[in-house]
Amino acid sequence: MKLLQDQNVIITGGSRGIGRGIALTFAKHGANVAFTYNSSTQAAEDLVKELEGFGVKAKAYQSDAADFDKAQELAKNVLEDFGQIDTLINNAGITKDNLLMRMSEDDFNKVVNVNLNSVFNLTKAVLRPMLKKRKGSIINMSSVVGIKGNAGQSNYSASKAGIIGFSKSVALELGSRNIRSNVIAPGFIETEMTEKLDETTVQGWRESIPLKRGGTPEDIANACVFLASDMSAYITGQTLSVDGGMLT
Ligand code: NAP
Repeated sequence: MKLLQDQNVIITGGSRGIGRGIALTFAKHGANVAFTYNSSTQAAEDLVKELEGFGVKAKAYQSDAADFDKAQELAKNVLEDFGQIDTLINNAGITKDNLLMRMSEDDFNKVVNVNLNSVFNLTKAVLRPMLKKRKGSIINMSSVVGIKGNAGQSNYSASKAGIIGFSKSVALELGSRNIRSNVIAPGFIETEMTEKLDETTVQGWRESIPLKRGGTPEDIANACVFLASDMSAYITGQTLSVDGGMLT
């Protein structure tokens, strides 16, 4: 069954990793996909072709998620191209890990701008069309470290915890208009972001996870399909950990 037939989704950071997995899974479920990237132009162009192979409409937009004006322009362009936005997935994110003692102000601000301010930027930009349709699903990508904290990631954890508070507030503000706002908190998902870690650390992570493996972009994408579809019509303001039991 195609759960998202003819629906339109915007995904930030769709060119690689989890965002790419979400784009492909949404296309398999019949959704038209608009996605952004920052600098991976070739990967974005290749993905558009792959998505079109599922018989859906697909388009890539270069748009720096940290830029407020660019987000407003992006929403306008997607609306012109696709006609309506049913689901927004704020997925773009970066890390700039360091112990607090060594963390620069620039690395703190950069991570908060790309990971948290971006969520404000684009959520605000898609509100009007969702309000008009009296329907919408907003899915924001946090992290288990936004719930638990992590040494060496004070900037990243702060940005991811901020996403949870933001999403709950949006759920409260917009529930009466049938706009839902939920969060996914991935655990250890094997992408380019986690390739930066050394193999011993990675093996340690895998062994500590109750399901004994790292997650895949598809594991996260399946949770996004659920939160975008009417299967979750009565769910808002929640944080769903998709972490193989890591936080249990
Ligand atoms: P990734 O492989 O590094 O991919 C990041 C994506 O975000 C890329 O498509 C990248 O675009 C895009 N991006 C980065 N900065 C951007 C900006 N300023 N504007 C627009 N797009 C930008 O990361 P990932 O592992 O897939 O992570 C995706 C999300 O899941 C992030 O929010 C991350 O914090 C979260 N997460 C990941 C894990 C994990 O274990 N991997 C765990 C918890 C949470 P370009 O290709 O153009 O650079």
